[in-house]
Amino acid sequence: MSETDPAPPAGDPRRRIPRTDALLARPEIAAAAASLGDRVVREVVRAAQDRARSGAISPEQVLDAVLGALGERTASSLRPVLNATGVIVHTNLGRAPLSPAAQQAVQDAAGYTDVEFDLATGARSRRGAGARAALLEACPAAEDALVVNNGAAALLLATTALAAGREVVWSRGELVEIGAGFRLAELVVSAGARVREVGTTNRTHGSDYRAACSAGSIGALLKVHTSNYRIEGFTSEVGIEELAGIAHEHGLPLIADLGSGLLGPESALPAEPDAASALSAGADVVITSGDKLLGGPQAGILLGRREVIARLARHPLARAVRADKLALAGIEATLAGPVPPVLAALRTEPDALRARTEALAARIDGRTVAHEGRVGGGGGAEVPLPGWAIAVEEELAASLRTGDPAVVGTVRDGACLLDLRCVPEEREDDLTEAVAAARERLRPRGADRTEGALERAGGTPDPGEDPARRPPPATAAPRDPVH
Ligand SMILES: *Cc1c(COP(=O)(O)O)cnc(C)c1O
Repeated sequence: MSETDPAPPAGDPRRRIPRTDALLARPEIAAAAASLGDRVVREVVRAAQDRARSGAISPEQVLDAVLGALGERTASSLRPVLNATGVIVHTNLGRAPLSPAAQQAVQDAAGYTDVEFDLATGARSRRGAGARAALLEACPAAEDALVVNNGAAALLLATTALAAGREVVWSRGELVEIGAGFRLAELVVSAGARVREVGTTNRTHGSDYRAACSAGSIGALLKVHTSNYRIEGFTSEVGIEELAGIAHEHGLPLIADLGSGLLGPESALPAEPDAASALSAGADVVITSGDKLLGGPQAGILLGRREVIARLARHPLARAVRADKLALAGIEATLAGPVPPVLAALRTEPDALRARTEALAARIDGRTVAHEGRVGGGGGAEVPLPGWAIAVEEELAASLRTGDPAVVGTVRDGACLLDLRCVPEEREDDLTEAVAAARERLRPRGADRTEGALERAGGTPDPGEDPARRPPPATAAPRDPVH
């Protein structure tokens, strides 16, 4: 109840709802305010008071409700999710989960850190030197590396620095649109370059590029990996090696935007281009994202010839798109640390996945069904990853999404499919509990009584469940005169 509300009439149970200032003065709640911030704690307090005012809980349960909710709150509204979709690089779910090494590095870099400082000499040092060294070690074909904010920023920087005011030669088969209506060609145009389209949707030849290079004022040739679609049938495209030959005949640089983040060939995705091969084939600068198949934090990575990378790093735009210290720390640790979760999920053996799936299906009373995983954003378009999923009741899908932890599966053919490919093994107990809690929430109303009775008896809410997200109680709540 906020301090401005008129007091309820004498004898009204709502008079017993603890006041905000009394709650905030309690040491446990004051401690939560110190770590989560005052605003978050007041929100939680108000929600619990509102539930008491509506009759969902008794005034005596407000304190427990506040403490329970605070135990699960973080200062951010982003909630952790168990990705049971089988889609590895899931754009809507934050793309790449960081390896434990990268998570630790990000946390360590969150305070003051020597990102541009040499602790031995006390002098200023080169920003991102550790990430750069790790990239060059992981991809020796590159003479130099630069990390920027994301893949789009890397493409913006490369085309601005190499082709602003001039033309970028680009195959019509590679004019990619990625998620949320983002068209790479519009980005390049916004950099002040013009796009010179060559070839056709299905076929582009070396002669198309040659003809374009001899006309007009060309800044660069661009090869873009069609990371989210495939053109099949009567097709032809010009590979990097031939394209680099054409570019260099005309004294022009070749930019290769690969999207995926593979630094070297990956046996689980034999058709996917990688940075080392593109550089060896002659590309002058290669662009990849840090949070697709590289499996690190959001970043754009530019690898290439020394003079070209130096030119990009010197451009004023480089400062506007530079990577922050958390990304630099995360990229370095992703490369130095254990196999990141994205690659582990990609390399999952179908038989091992099946054994895990069958064992968990028995625990949660589901069925094992064949289910193909996907690479998702940034690569492996249309490549099926053979695998398995647990089929549970379709109605559980929504309840699982709003549970804690949130579990996102796929609804198909009247079932909710839970694919373990991207669920860490150590989270299987959490998944089991989430399914049990979701079933509990969906029990018919008559069965709710037990839960209500437990609450009235002073039982604490299930710690795996956010009380604020429970469906409204079956009993009609007293009308609140304040609203
Ligand atoms: C994903 C992608 C981008 C954009 O990278 P972000 O890291 O999302 O900014 C650019 N080009 C290609 C080919 C991509 O697949």
